[in-house]
Amino acid sequence: MPKKDILIIEDEKDLVELIQYNLEKEGFRVAYAYDGEEGLHKAGSKHPALVLLDLMLPRLDGLEVCRRLKQDSKTADIPIIILSVKNSEADVVAGLELGVDDYITKPFSPRVLISRVRAVLRRSEREAGPKKHIKIDGLVIDASRHEVFLDGKNVVLTMTEFNLLRYLASRPGRVFTRDQLMSGVLGEDSMVVDRTIDVHVASLRKKLGRYATYIVTVRGLGYKFKD
Ligand code: CA
Repeated sequence: MPKKDILIIEDEKDLVELIQYNLEKEGFRVAYAYDGEEGLHKAGSKHPALVLLDLMLPRLDGLEVCRRLKQDSKTADIPIIILSVKNSEADVVAGLELGVDDYITKPFSPRVLISRVRAVLRRSEREAGPKKHIKIDGLVIDASRHEVFLDGKNVVLTMTEFNLLRYLASRPGRVFTRDQLMSGVLGEDSMVVDRTIDVHVASLRKKLGRYATYIVTVRGLGYKFKD
């Protein structure tokens, strides 16, 4: 299998070295940039399999790099993992809303880094096409017939609950903000700031029985489906 390219955009040189060492040990090929502008340029020219993106960067901050990568059709499909610092939930939320795939809080262990990188790469490969049929353990979502089965038993969901479940379950492990779920599932203006989605999640969980724990609350951010 050809080696996958990972681009690190991070201005802490020691950290870049550490990440590079660990990724190369795992068989990845690594490129790096010490500021946002150079990072943006390298992402465009190298089209890496994944970008590790620090948020506090010289010349162009991480969120702006992210915004530009997602706006450009040539780079929009490159998965991004944000490297964030503690207590920066607002930035992480902003990043998730721009379409980043995951975030890692500094300081992190190499083991965590590698497992997140692999998970995001796996997910982005799986997401190549829309899924009609999702089966996780004894939970089956049949999108073509709008039916859900729990251990072989049909369960009746509202349209919103069904769409919410399908939305989350088709991207296990990925955190979605409430705004993203509102617009993705309810088709409502994402400027509406309320907790409508929490009500739908609560009623969905009730109907999912032992599978309720698959829908995980991510504090300060939103929800995800267990990976
Ligand atoms: Ca930094």
